Amino acid sequence: MALFEAIQTTDGRRRYDVKSPVTLQSIGQFDCATPDEVRAAVARARKAQREWATRSFAERAEVLWRLVDQFVARQDDIVELVIKETGKPRNEAISMEVLAPCMQISHYAKRGGEYLKTVHRRPSGVMRFSKKLTLVYQPLGVVGLITPWNGPVALAANPLAQALMAGNAVVHKPSEVTPFSAVLLEEMTRAAGFPEHLYQVIQGDGQTGAALIEAGVDKVSFTGSVATGRRVGEACGRNLIPVTLELGGKDAMIVCRDADLDRAADGAVRGSCFNTGHYCCGTERIYVPEAIYEPFVAKVVEHAKALKQTDQGESDIGAVFWDKQMDIIEAHMADAKARGAKVLVGGERNRSLSGYFFPPTVVVDVDHEMDLMKKETFGPIVAIQKVRDEEEALALANDSEYGLSGNIWTRDLAKGEALAARMQTGSVSVNDIAVTYGIAEAPFGGLKASGVGQVNGEIGIRGYCHLHPIITDTTKKAQGGYPYTLESAAGLQKIVKNVFGNRWLRKLFV
Ligand code: NAD
Repeated sequence: MALFEAIQTTDGRRRYDVKSPVTLQSIGQFDCATPDEVRAAVARARKAQREWATRSFAERAEVLWRLVDQFVARQDDIVELVIKETGKPRNEAISMEVLAPCMQISHYAKRGGEYLKTVHRRPSGVMRFSKKLTLVYQPLGVVGLITPWNGPVALAANPLAQALMAGNAVVHKPSEVTPFSAVLLEEMTRAAGFPEHLYQVIQGDGQTGAALIEAGVDKVSFTGSVATGRRVGEACGRNLIPVTLELGGKDAMIVCRDADLDRAADGAVRGSCFNTGHYCCGTERIYVPEAIYEPFVAKVVEHAKALKQTDQGESDIGAVFWDKQMDIIEAHMADAKARGAKVLVGGERNRSLSGYFFPPTVVVDVDHEMDLMKKETFGPIVAIQKVRDEEEALALANDSEYGLSGNIWTRDLAKGEALAARMQTGSVSVNDIAVTYGIAEAPFGGLKASGVGQVNGEIGIRGYCHLHPIITDTTKKAQGGYPYTLESAAGLQKIVKNVFGNRWLRKLFV
């Protein structure tokens, strides 16, 4: 049964029905916005943005603090809705969709003004005697925000807070798989007293997302798959608008011979199974030196077997959020088994539950011929490959078209950080699962196919701005120059020779 299905309409609109992955019951329907409606939303946002951009950082922050109040007041509503839409466990719904947005919005409310403070300084070199340089972080205008289904509130609220604090308006196209969380977020922004049309949600599918990019937005913030990211990047290139692409991953975990094996085994299971494995920085490949392979695998099996999966009450591992993802998980498992992988725990869809559930699974004897070790699986699979040593582990970790994040486990922190520096990924954790996105100051973004640009922290919020240099001449006379003469040309050559031909002087002048 498809969890997300087109409905026949007589009015020519695209309409969809969305079902819960746990109960398989419909939780609602929505109509896709037409291109005209999308353009109208962008026009309304542009009007709202003009007034918003005149507000001080303190005033913008006040509005964001009120949104945090809404998260606190409505946390039960958020959690219930997210569980209905995704089937994730209550603990994960709270930590990811309530606590994390509270932390992120608060961060930008408190620090956004500092990150975007106007800078006044004298330029370097001879220009310092006559010019003043002022750097102003100007908002870009209207941001088109396009988000996926695995963190329906968190992955919207975080860029929203940054874009707004920087003085922009936002038009948001949420995932068609989880459309209702964004409706709730929009409702919360209204209750928080956001100016009208500063944040608008337009519902729709991929065509609607494509229409948003064509609707005259000034930047696109996209989070989603590599395949869609390429299309979004192409469309933004054609429209000459800046874009950040936060895309998929195939994160590797390296367990060093000196690692605390209990801690690493716990990290392997958490990193692979958090959010049912629907985590862009989820651990998808684990490399373990042969010297510690047997005890490590035994501990992972023990941890994985202890996990509970149920549709009654709190589960450790929730539902697979979308039937299409179930197809991918099952296909990767079938391919791995056909190529000789051995399943130690789980491995088959959990048919004892009526919804879309895949159990925590531990697989060994895997290699890079298998889709399970090459393509993004996005499921609760702990896939472990035996290697000779840490150097082979690192070479295999880097043997991927993706480069989002990764994690290294060792008692020797200096060694862990040295290995981390050689990992070809946007970020790395040592002795923890991938937590970069949860640390607001840490720039987040992928290398290789995992993305373009970085979000979060100082660099992220500045990405919602144009850094506008204003050069003011502080002298009282005209600069002159004309008429050119042979003498003036000779004078310029003298400066080149006397200043830049002198190793000591040229350092003074730049
Ligand atoms: P997806 O690419 O299918 O869809 C993402 C969004 O793009 C949806 O809102 C969709 O409607 C929209 N879209 C589809 N076609 C479009 C088009 N042509 N133009 C504009 N918009 C279009 O991704 P998904 O399946 O929703 O999400 C899962 C993927 O997201 C995984 O690959 C995951 O790794 C990735 N992800 C990455 C991060 C990160 O920060 N790097 C975070 C979360 C998820």
